[in-house]
Amino acid sequence: MEGNSLRKFKRVCVFCGSNSGNRQVFSDAASELGNELVKRKMDLVYGGGSVGLMGLISQRVHAGGCHVLGVIPKALMPLEISGETVGEVRIVSDMHERKAEMARESDAFIALPGGYGTMEELLEMITWSQLGIHKKPVGLLNVDGYYNSLLALFDNGVEEGFIKPSARHIVLSAPTAKDLLVKMEQYTPSHDHVAPHESWQMEQLGNYPNEQNPK
Ligand code: AMP
Repeated sequence: MEGNSLRKFKRVCVFCGSNSGNRQVFSDAASELGNELVKRKMDLVYGGGSVGLMGLISQRVHAGGCHVLGVIPKALMPLEISGETVGEVRIVSDMHERKAEMARESDAFIALPGGYGTMEELLEMITWSQLGIHKKPVGLLNVDGYYNSLLALFDNGVEEGFIKPSARHIVLSAPTAKDLLVKMEQYTPSHDHVAPHESWQMEQLGNYPNEQNPK
């Protein structure tokens, strides 16, 4: 968004582990993020299911009275795989459709600690921002330094000439949900897009809501 006004977003997509991690600090962070979303009357878009950190945040946001949309591939639907989903459930055919749907339905993206799945989802949204497919903020909740080495790898990518310094700013990070959401509200894209947004023919992905493009 142009100008100095804060970006306001309403629907936040949270990527997170289907496990809870070995330390309580990760579960606490998922609950805290859920509380912050509720405090700000923000809705949640997530991968469906009640396993791991996904379950914690979805239950917290749902209990707080905000809308929860779980987007889950058919193959992960069985209860013994993903557990009970709260809120609205959208069943999709595969992982590609799931990610596109989650991206389309959200105004911003946050990654909590997680494994390969979480990192892949995060990296895809960073890449899509770099390419110009979307202009939505992407935040990394760096709980107790969990993502320090990933952030260091991004810095190394800049150092070695694989990531443009301006594109390094796509990834916002903070140790607490509150700090991260403030940074995301202040985010203004400053990188050159690889191709113009309009050329992606992904109108359905939408863009950041603003005066010209209200949600
Ligand atoms: P990971 O970070 O590897 O635990 O993967 C987390 C992501 O993978 C989630 O955001 C989901 O998209 C997906 N995922 C992995 N396992 C499951 C599961 N049992 N139920 C639902 N989604 C899952």
